[in-house]
Amino acid sequence: MPELPEVETVRQTLKNLIIGEKITDILVRYDGIIKPLSIAQFKKRLIGQSFRDIRRKAKYLFFDFDSLTMVSHLRMEGKYYLRNSLKECTKHEHVIFELNHSQYLCYHDVRKFGTMELTDLHQELAIPSVSALGKEGNDPTWLAEDFFEKIKFTKRPMKSILLDQHIISGLGNIYVDETLFRSKINPNTLGNEINLYQAKRVIKSAKEVLNKATNLGGTTIRTYHSNIGVDGRFQNELMVHTFVGEPCRICGDTIQKTKVGGRGTYYCPTCQRDDHLLIVGLTGGIASGKSFVSNWFSKHKVPVLDADKIYKNLLKTNEIMYNEIVQNFGDIVQRNHEIDRQALGKIIFQDPKKRELLNQITHPFVLEEMKQEIAQYQKKRTKMIILDIPLLFEAKLEYMVDIIMLAYVDPNTQIHRLMDRDQISKSEAEKKIQSQMKLEEKIKKADIIIDNSFDPNHTKEQLLEIYRTLRRK
Ligand SMILES: [Zn+2]
Repeated sequence: MPELPEVETVRQTLKNLIIGEKITDILVRYDGIIKPLSIAQFKKRLIGQSFRDIRRKAKYLFFDFDSLTMVSHLRMEGKYYLRNSLKECTKHEHVIFELNHSQYLCYHDVRKFGTMELTDLHQELAIPSVSALGKEGNDPTWLAEDFFEKIKFTKRPMKSILLDQHIISGLGNIYVDETLFRSKINPNTLGNEINLYQAKRVIKSAKEVLNKATNLGGTTIRTYHSNIGVDGRFQNELMVHTFVGEPCRICGDTIQKTKVGGRGTYYCPTCQRDDHLLIVGLTGGIASGKSFVSNWFSKHKVPVLDADKIYKNLLKTNEIMYNEIVQNFGDIVQRNHEIDRQALGKIIFQDPKKRELLNQITHPFVLEEMKQEIAQYQKKRTKMIILDIPLLFEAKLEYMVDIIMLAYVDPNTQIHRLMDRDQISKSEAEKKIQSQMKLEEKIKKADIIIDNSFDPNHTKEQLLEIYRTLRRK
């Protein structure tokens, strides 16, 4: 089935082939495609007109002639071929436009659901089904706030909402699955369960998916080929659609297939959890005010799972992890048999390979512990938790959270706070900051930025607003 990127590819390709061509005759083999005119009227108005432009909205093509616009809706299977002789036409080509340079533009539609309608030039909005179309999924003026207003009380699944062409147009089955995967939203999640930040993610993902697919000429999978010499390449970018039973490329869990609103739907059960727990990831650069944020949420009775605390605790309680560290890092055990974290810290700070090794040893244990604690909150039907993970991006744990919150300070303030906090020189502070992923990189990946460059009250005001938005209150 063609979707926006495929129809756009057809538009661009056809435009290069037929602009300036005049229609000299029309053969209609199946009347049902022409609406609402009689075939005789349709032919009378179009013969003698030349193609001037081809425009598109969602899955509608608008062919502009000298004084008319023909609105062609491709529906399920519609496609166009350019033929050099009538003999090449197959039985599924129901409307054939003869052009002046002995070429034939043939409309092919196995299921005959497509339609063609004439309006005065550029008057396609006079057709109700066209004027009812929502903004296109990659329209830069499609705003999260408007989208959220439209859906925030809706008890329909997100999958059905995104397929609804009145809300947003041009997203079909493939691209809705891909958009929801990138948004970390389960296809069955209802409109009234998501918050504004998630709505923003949906819009960002839809635009990314549609723009990338359009640039790659659409997606060529079993149901649709544009058949005018262009095959799409977006199938190589698909993350879930068609991949049932295969491992998720982000988390390794198995991609599932289900039906939502009667439509085959692919999703990852881990990246797109279907429970009522909102997991907000909290991360940030060194000395960026992250602990101020996590303390604020704790005070507001939002449970905080702190990866650092879990790690420190495991150092004391997990014998397997303890032994592996001691075997690999040697003389770092104190008299009381506890691992000297400062000594360990010094080793890994100076040696990236050792840092990598320590991560390899400790991350699986920390991850397992976090997963177990999250499961407890799911059982208790907790509504929201904060997952405080300093290395959320570096450890590739974004899949564990629904929303990413980043504590930010401007670089100058960051250096001075770090110098004060750790009693170190400017160059030492710079070195520490440079050993982590750049804050600018992290900003691009975050959904929420908390600017801690100013006084605590300024931060608190932001946090209150963020908290309300997360809770939809
Ligand atoms: Zn996954």
